[in-house]
Amino acid sequence: MTMTVEQTYSNYINGAWKTNAEETKASLNPARPREVVGYYTMSGTRTLDEAVEAAASAKRNWRKMAQPARGDILYKAAALLEKRIEEIAETMTREMGKTYPEAKGETMRGAQILRYYAGEGMRQSGDVIPSTDKDALMFTNRSPLGVVGVITPWNFPVAIPVWKMAPALVYGNTVVFKPAQESAVTAAKVVECLAEAGLPDGVLNFVTGSGSVIGRGLSEHPDVNGITFTGSEQVGRGIGQAALGRGAKYQLEMGGKNPVIVTEDADLDTAVDAVISGGLKSTGQKCTATSRVIIQNGVYDTFKEKLLAKVRDIKVGDGMKEDSWMGPCASESQFKSVTSYIEKGKEEGADLLCGGETIPEEEGYYVTPAVFDNVEPEMTIAREEIFGPVLALMRVETVEEAIETANDTEYGLSASIFTTNIQEFLSFMDDIEAGLVRINAESAGVELQAPFGGMKNSSSHSREQGEAAKEFFTSIKTVLVK
Ligand code: NAD
Repeated sequence: MTMTVEQTYSNYINGAWKTNAEETKASLNPARPREVVGYYTMSGTRTLDEAVEAAASAKRNWRKMAQPARGDILYKAAALLEKRIEEIAETMTREMGKTYPEAKGETMRGAQILRYYAGEGMRQSGDVIPSTDKDALMFTNRSPLGVVGVITPWNFPVAIPVWKMAPALVYGNTVVFKPAQESAVTAAKVVECLAEAGLPDGVLNFVTGSGSVIGRGLSEHPDVNGITFTGSEQVGRGIGQAALGRGAKYQLEMGGKNPVIVTEDADLDTAVDAVISGGLKSTGQKCTATSRVIIQNGVYDTFKEKLLAKVRDIKVGDGMKEDSWMGPCASESQFKSVTSYIEKGKEEGADLLCGGETIPEEEGYYVTPAVFDNVEPEMTIAREEIFGPVLALMRVETVEEAIETANDTEYGLSASIFTTNIQEFLSFMDDIEAGLVRINAESAGVELQAPFGGMKNSSSHSREQGEAAKEFFTSIKTVLVK
């Protein structure tokens, strides 16, 4: 494994890594917060303007390049990402804490996403529409938006930027990418792979810095034609308003409070494993993570005992260690937020059955996986997104009540039911308010070729991935030829 330790990353603008004149900040390892993973730049608005200007100047030539040729560059980027998989996965684990096997899986996913969109370079991108005029030819032609701003969170530092940038690029947009500060070094390495693959100057630009300066500046910039954002609801709403105010296209993927329903007809062992994997992998820091487990009375106690037996055995530790199943929270602020939700759960009267503790002999931001019993719908831990390793168990009598409880949230990203009863399955599919609906499968994750997104406050109701990506990153021109 080759690691460049404590490398300093500047911004990548107009085909060159800039000489750093701006302040840099250390990115720290949440497993050992005194350890520096690398340095990134706290850029100012002048740098952002330079990046947007580069992207705007490059957009015409990039749009004019043949789409299959744009795809070929993405194939090369996939190979480069794969070649560096161990180094990039190690950086990810050290920078935001997820275990090394998960980080490796995510990096591999990044390469697969690049290949999927590389293939898009060769696929049809318009339709012929029958005209009532026999002498006319009518068809649709897709145009790129122009300059696209990509703003991403830290929890999937390879997969999320790639699933936004790859379609943006293949459909002919130029990009200004602003990653989360907590994962800026991992993001820089993804940019290195794309840059090395042969993107012309100015087509991809990378600017690190604070959300309030660079993120906000990007979403308000008059020369940015589209914004794709994943992150918290509060930030997303502001970005949406800024984009709407100046007529830019936008796409927001935000939080979740994802329910899993376990009915009396469920295979309990399958449900337990899915709740553990969906709720606690990546330390519960997934937008699709299982957060509320809504269990029918008849199986409540058995399910609870089976779940506890396994959760108590989970090994928490540095994600680089082979025996760690779960790593630390990604940052000090995440750690503080998760532990304060655990305190709130106790104060409001839920029973903490296990976990929710720090590890005193470790300096990292560790919280052991917590399971709360007797959680009521009005409690904070049943309502707000915790984004940490906390499961709230809720008791219901009927499947109808379970679905009602599941829908009793402002969010609507992912939802699962565990049942062997086809009627229960069908009413869940019909009545659940979620963009990702899972039956006998964990709430987290989606295949890269399928639409991804949520309802209610989880999303701007657009979808990412697959065909949906083409819808967002292009505009349709309806052409009539006579
Ligand atoms: P965040 O909203 O704090 O930050 C996301 C990005 O927005 C970062 O790059 C940040 O620097 C930037 N930003 C911050 N303030 C900004 C502003 N005023 N204007 C513009 N940009 C700004 O989110 P986070 O803490 O990085 O990530 C966790 C959140 O992301 C959770 O709520 C989680 O549910 C959500 N998330 C959603 C999905 C999804 O697909 N629905 C996937 C992963 C994470």
